[in-house]
Amino acid sequence: MNLPERINELKEKNDMVILAHNYQLPEVQDIADYLGDSLELCYLAQELEAETIVFAGVAFMAESALILNPEKTVLVPELDAHCPMAKMLSPRDVINGKLRYPDAAVVLYGNTTAGAKAEADVICTSANSVRIVNSLDEEKILFGPDKNLRHWTQQHTDKELLPVPDNGYCYVHNSLITPEDVKSLRSSHPDAEVLVHPECLPEVQAMAERVLSTNGMLRHAMSSSSDEFIIGTEKEMCYRLQKEMPEKRFYGFDKAICDDMKKTDLEKLYRVMRDRSNKMELPREIIEKAQRPLQRMLDLSR
Ligand code: SF4
Repeated sequence: MNLPERINELKEKNDMVILAHNYQLPEVQDIADYLGDSLELCYLAQELEAETIVFAGVAFMAESALILNPEKTVLVPELDAHCPMAKMLSPRDVINGKLRYPDAAVVLYGNTTAGAKAEADVICTSANSVRIVNSLDEEKILFGPDKNLRHWTQQHTDKELLPVPDNGYCYVHNSLITPEDVKSLRSSHPDAEVLVHPECLPEVQAMAERVLSTNGMLRHAMSSSSDEFIIGTEKEMCYRLQKEMPEKRFYGFDKAICDDMKKTDLEKLYRVMRDRSNKMELPREIIEKAQRPLQRMLDLSR
């Protein structure tokens, strides 16, 4: 049996389900039961009946799956796959922000550690940040860690978004997709619609026809009359889009690679499923504190 066959056999025998983020390697996307962005994977983690979730992504995503399902087992193929942006915001930064702005609500992007989430009032993703912020009573919102998502959200609300920390960002979207890159790809594909992620620089957002989460890109491309798209996000998203819509064309940015998302491969998936190793674990009090803001996000987004 080859590796995909052995993985599929383990899934069936052991009541396991594989969730994978849209930025995972093609071989991982192909074997996954479900693909999605952070928000969709949160809903799935909560709704699926399987007793064991194998999470192909980065640590904060597997943490969220466990926080929402503390009675389930969450296995992580690579324990050293982290989102560098999540590490830019410590729980102490959030506590200090709350002391400085006691009247502000705290809205944290899902790309944060469980410890930081535990200090938030509500979590958001790139798919629902505007909706979450506008649903709150407070006029001041401590928002972080991503400065570019904050910029985009600020364009769509009258509330005042205060940064926490001052300057968080994703190196892939912020630094590896520049206005010059967009200009150059657009000159090669003048008829393509430009879709970019809100983690991109404000200048890049301003050049796009749409600013969307990865699942938003998928839905938009499916319903759009355009046949060609420039995709301003991590490069593997184009694999997902091209597979779903072979009749359309998707052009990505070759250097926009998230190294941590690429740490998971079939061999590691197989090993953790076979050995039931690399179990995600969190202190009980963190799970209990972080559950409320995560669940609040899910309730506000339905
Ligand atoms: S693409 Fe950016 S935000 Fe997403 S996991 Fe990688 S570093 Fe973090």
